Amino acid sequence: MSIRPPTALRQLVDMSRRLGAPENDYVILGGGNTSAQIDEQTFWVKASGAALAGIGSEDFVQVRSAPILELVEAEEVSDELVKRTLTESCVQADGPRPSVETFFHALLLRLDGVSFIGHTHPTAVNAVTCSQRAEEALSGRLLPEEIVVCGLAPIWVPFAESGIALARRLRQLLADYVDRYRRRPRCVWIQNHGLIALGGSPQEVESITVMSVQVARILVGTYALGGPHFLTDKQIERIATCPDEAPRLDQLGLTPP
Ligand SMILES: [Zn+2]
Repeated sequence: MSIRPPTALRQLVDMSRRLGAPENDYVILGGGNTSAQIDEQTFWVKASGAALAGIGSEDFVQVRSAPILELVEAEEVSDELVKRTLTESCVQADGPRPSVETFFHALLLRLDGVSFIGHTHPTAVNAVTCSQRAEEALSGRLLPEEIVVCGLAPIWVPFAESGIALARRLRQLLADYVDRYRRRPRCVWIQNHGLIALGGSPQEVESITVMSVQVARILVGTYALGGPHFLTDKQIERIATCPDEAPRLDQLGLTPP
């Protein structure tokens, strides 16, 4: 008799399969990874090397947050310590190895209102992140619905090696972001790498991903006609604080930022 996985894990598996569906072009091969909070101490994260398309509950690992976060905050870490911590943080000792990106998942799942994370490498998003003018392209907002779904601004992360280096870079940028905007981010764009969507539900993660992909396509189009025309700060602030947007947030499965 098979045992039904708990709800968060079932939702995570379904979300991961949709993010990994080949027709979306969000990931290829074993690329991308996903996670879900389980309780105060632990979370599920994709096992290293598993492909999102057709993924099963056996391809997720339950990991303890504390040792992972301790390493993200440490001064100096060796490759050996990173490897050992990844192994020792697993609740089940003889299971598969967690993704090397487990570090940023632990960091972002700690934020208020974040219980699911989807990290993908969409071709459209990477057409922007791999461009000479990526930072400029991401410095403004193009669409009212982009602000509603993806927030006031994404975090832009200059290239860092996957794993602990990326998580440590992101930790500093996250602190700067919260200082500046007084709210948590909804998405992270990583130079020469891809996208991270943060949500309170799988639907939220998927809405942020699909909207980011549309923004990326539009951005590339704008450079054919002289570059993006961004909304003004005043327009952005009005949209972000408009009470009429509350039903829209609800419909999209979004939590207020
Ligand atoms: Zn990646």
